Amino acid sequence: MTVRIGVIGTGAIGRDHARRINQVLAGGKIVALSDVNPASAEAVKADIAPDATVYATGEELIAAADVDAVLVTSWGATHEQYVLAAIAAGKPCFCEKPLATTATGAKRIVDAEVAFGRRLVQVGFMRRYDAGYVALKQAIETHTGAPVMVHAAHRNPAVTEAYTTPMAIHDTLIHEIDVFRWLLEDDYVSARVTFPRTCARSHAKLRDPQIVTLTTAKGVVINTEIFVNCHYGYDIQCEVVGEDGVASLPEPMAVQMRLGAKLQNSILTDWKDRFVASYDVELQDFLKAAAEGTASGPTSWDGYMAAVTADACVAAQDDEGATVAISYPSRPALYA
Ligand code: NAP
Repeated sequence: MTVRIGVIGTGAIGRDHARRINQVLAGGKIVALSDVNPASAEAVKADIAPDATVYATGEELIAAADVDAVLVTSWGATHEQYVLAAIAAGKPCFCEKPLATTATGAKRIVDAEVAFGRRLVQVGFMRRYDAGYVALKQAIETHTGAPVMVHAAHRNPAVTEAYTTPMAIHDTLIHEIDVFRWLLEDDYVSARVTFPRTCARSHAKLRDPQIVTLTTAKGVVINTEIFVNCHYGYDIQCEVVGEDGVASLPEPMAVQMRLGAKLQNSILTDWKDRFVASYDVELQDFLKAAAEGTASGPTSWDGYMAAVTADACVAAQDDEGATVAISYPSRPALYA
């Protein structure tokens, strides 16, 4: 079966996901496009999906009879309305992170999906599909014993002046927040943030770097450094310390060179390159489940838990050094 897909939001990632579905993956075809800027949707139609219909609104696209499933890749603040509309229409929906910009918004989606009674939503937490994280999870489960601590870093070469302190949580740490829950099969109970001195490359509205400490229900302590003006590259580090040993996230493949009396490995500089393969795997997973009228992978519940945790981390930023408790309702059976 070919799943007929509509894409809402044809900016950077919407265009790239449309390309994946029409040119790389099996089992899907882009039949509908919509963007608040129609010229953007028309450009994707011209370049990638000549047979697609361009709709004036996301709601019209969702309602179209020939759209089987929806990709929501518009601005974060618009995700909730489209995901709720897709659930109301009973159509599988892949939503880029964030599922919603508030925990209350994400909870509304959870409640709607639970009321519908079947999974329809996959959240775009693509790190769960990254070969390195999958191998790390396997190493933790089979070799290094029960996890005790995690040391992690999310470093980015530079950001613009539009990037502010809370964005380090909502836009950057959000991926770690999700992937560590999945990696450790554990939930968070508290968050704390400490700020080293702000680096010279930062600006007035951004305290950079920062260290976020999350503690889980099983007592694992996770320290993550977020440093978005690190200058040297885009670098994701993760080391899990277990009872019997230590497992580290593999480095991206790079040709090692001996040159000019130096042993060298390149470091990536663009985030788009770091998890490029995992986007293919996550969307293939979406197409497979959508063909059966459902969704797999990261759930609405995962999106909600990430939003609750992110809110706690931002509260911890505002109260530097204080431990902020994280609480959430019990998990609905749909997400067991
Ligand atoms: P982008 O390039 O700005 O694209 C967003 C597009 O959505 C733009 O074309 C924008 O139109 C359009 N749009 C805004 N409001 C809309 C609405 N109400 N209805 C329909 N379209 C609307 O941003 P992006 O980088 O692609 O990011 C999109 C989403 O994906 C964000 O939530 C982001 O966090 C997420 N993302 C996730 C990853 C990941 O690693 N998983 C990576 C990148 C992005 P105009 O710009 O013309 O106004």
